[in-house]
Amino acid sequence: MVWHQGHHTLCAHHTMAPYLTGTIIKNFFHCQRQAYLFAHGLNFRNDLVRIGELLHEQQQSKELVFEKIKVDDIKDSVLIEYKKTSSNLEGTRMQVLHYLDALYEKGLQLTGKIIDLTYGKEYIVQLTEETQAELHQTKKIIKEMIEGTIPEGKHRRADCKGCSFKDYCWTP
Ligand code: SF4
Repeated sequence: MVWHQGHHTLCAHHTMAPYLTGTIIKNFFHCQRQAYLFAHGLNFRNDLVRIGELLHEQQQSKELVFEKIKVDDIKDSVLIEYKKTSSNLEGTRMQVLHYLDALYEKGLQLTGKIIDLTYGKEYIVQLTEETQAELHQTKKIIKEMIEGTIPEGKHRRADCKGCSFKDYCWTP
């Protein structure tokens, strides 16, 4: 693992409150309402959520926890995030950047890898000046969203497949 001395190329940030979890950041890219509900403490479970957990278990994911950061695994300077579908890749990318950034602040410089369990694909995620700036801007937008009123949800029920808030949003 590569340890760095200080922040020569990337910037530290210390003003993010409330704390955004990787899940909230990922959800934001799927549905702002979903991210809002998670951020305000609602977390329903359904069968698809459980299937995702089982896929993780099959991979014998170690699910490492550092303070409020929960990552699937770290091997040889690579932070690994397992993904059960190819949907919301952008959200997962931002989630991984969030983990990389948080660990960078602790002096640990890692590369990210997303492993798509369904299609057997892998995606590399690097924390650079550009992606770090992109992450910080995204977190600012998410924070503003969370502090506002609850956003509208999806307009098509089919887009809510797998969401644990489906009953909440679609029960008349
Ligand atoms: S059920 Fe649909 S609209 Fe409601 S939070 Fe989930 S994805 Fe968004």
